[in-house]
Amino acid sequence: MSQTPTNDQQVNLDFTSLPLKRELTDNLATMGYAQMTPIQAQSLPAILNGEDVIGQGKTGSGKTAAFGLGLLNKLNVKRFRIQTMVLCPTRELADQVAKELRTLARGIHNIKILTLCGGVPMGPQIGSLEHGAHIIVGTPGRIIDHLDRGRLDLENVDTLILDEADRMLEMGFQRELDAIMLAVPRERQTLLFSATFPDQIKTISEQFLVNPVMVKVTATHDSSSIEQHFYECGNNNDRMRALQLLLLDRNPESAVVFCNTKRETKDVAAKLSNAGFSVVALHGDLEQRDRDLMLLKFANKSASVMVATDVAARGLDIDALDMVVNYHVAYDTEVHIHRVGRTGRAGSKGAAFTFFNHEDGYKIGLIEDLLGRDIVAEGLPSESLLDKMPAQPAMVTIQIDGGKKNKVRPGDILGCLTGDNGIEGSEVGKIKITDFRSYVAVKRQVVRRALNKITKGKLKGRNYRAWELK
Ligand code: ADP
Ligand code: MG
Repeated sequence: MSQTPTNDQQVNLDFTSLPLKRELTDNLATMGYAQMTPIQAQSLPAILNGEDVIGQGKTGSGKTAAFGLGLLNKLNVKRFRIQTMVLCPTRELADQVAKELRTLARGIHNIKILTLCGGVPMGPQIGSLEHGAHIIVGTPGRIIDHLDRGRLDLENVDTLILDEADRMLEMGFQRELDAIMLAVPRERQTLLFSATFPDQIKTISEQFLVNPVMVKVTATHDSSSIEQHFYECGNNNDRMRALQLLLLDRNPESAVVFCNTKRETKDVAAKLSNAGFSVVALHGDLEQRDRDLMLLKFANKSASVMVATDVAARGLDIDALDMVVNYHVAYDTEVHIHRVGRTGRAGSKGAAFTFFNHEDGYKIGLIEDLLGRDIVAEGLPSESLLDKMPAQPAMVTIQIDGGKKNKVRPGDILGCLTGDNGIEGSEVGKIKITDFRSYVAVKRQVVRRALNKITKGKLKGRNYRAWELK
């Protein structure tokens, strides 16, 4: 087995440095994937080169896009045959993988991805199989069922992926895997991903892979990659001033400010908004629709600060927060760890800022135990920063009055914006489509041109109304 560079060696992290199709790289920008994660950077060159690869990295390291980009780049859409098969241990994981593949593939039209998993009725799967597919994502047991009944033709598979191989073995799928290997051509590329590397994995790698390149990435997120700062704030006025100074000093693209109560959340958000920050508030009093819009604006980087209670922020799935602020120390250290852990994900460096006063002595003591060091209050950035206007977020959200029910799809919006003297793919951010509306983030500098493209040009053969979402 050959060894790829270790983490600390210099690697180019731009997706555009890879020999990937334009449709894929343009779309990555719209997904908010600015740079490769370490496992992607280390495995993609070999994957795109057609080599067998063993990738080891813990959950959340970005393995799906590593193999997903590889298989999508290689796929021949015009050839309507099953060319790729992804094996996963459970239906949930298979669904997640299929979802990510569909998102990665949305710049390329007419790719058919089919999931074949146990626990769902056979009938519809048989029907879908008769219609054909390019990519199968499934669990080994159900794949064997279809193979045994002669409903699955794997003769054209040239890429086979074993995702979470260790878990598939734990679940006792060894025999199914052996049988599937006999049904796919020997001449193929095989990629194996696993969080751990027990002997059993070594054995199947030797059986199923040929001269594999071994890529191993250690933890992408541990608390030591997060710097924690503490400031003493006697009262709420001090807190608000400290918050503004830190935001002005750091200019975060995405920051979350945690408050202990709903009332405080609203109050802090209103004050920041008055001071000119682009802010959204997330608390229990919001209607679902407003909550979704707040999350959307924050996730697509057209709002840079989110003020939230712990409960409202639960399930918030935003990678790469630059900054987390504890407006008050959390009631318990578990909550503190959880808040702080939201920054510094996906290998990026995070920073957490906690405001405390003399009443928080006990809680601060617990955090000191946790950190294994004394907490010393730091000085704040210079007051002169308060003369500055907050920076505007990089993106603006455009709302379009057409959605799924009008058969508008992300590729249509991207095509309309970038086609025919349009804006660059790299100037388009996240796209979200609901039943009757679509939302697309674009770079602030090009918002007028983007609006023109949609309202004067043609999206799905008609004119739509579109406006900036404030
Ligand atoms: P794994 O399979 O290694 O557990 P996933 O492939 O599920 O990890 O990825 C974890 C999360 O990271 C997902 O939400 C995914 O969308 C996100 N992600 C993957 N690659 C990138 C990237 N290059 N930039 C930003 N986010 C990424
Ligand atoms: Mg995974």
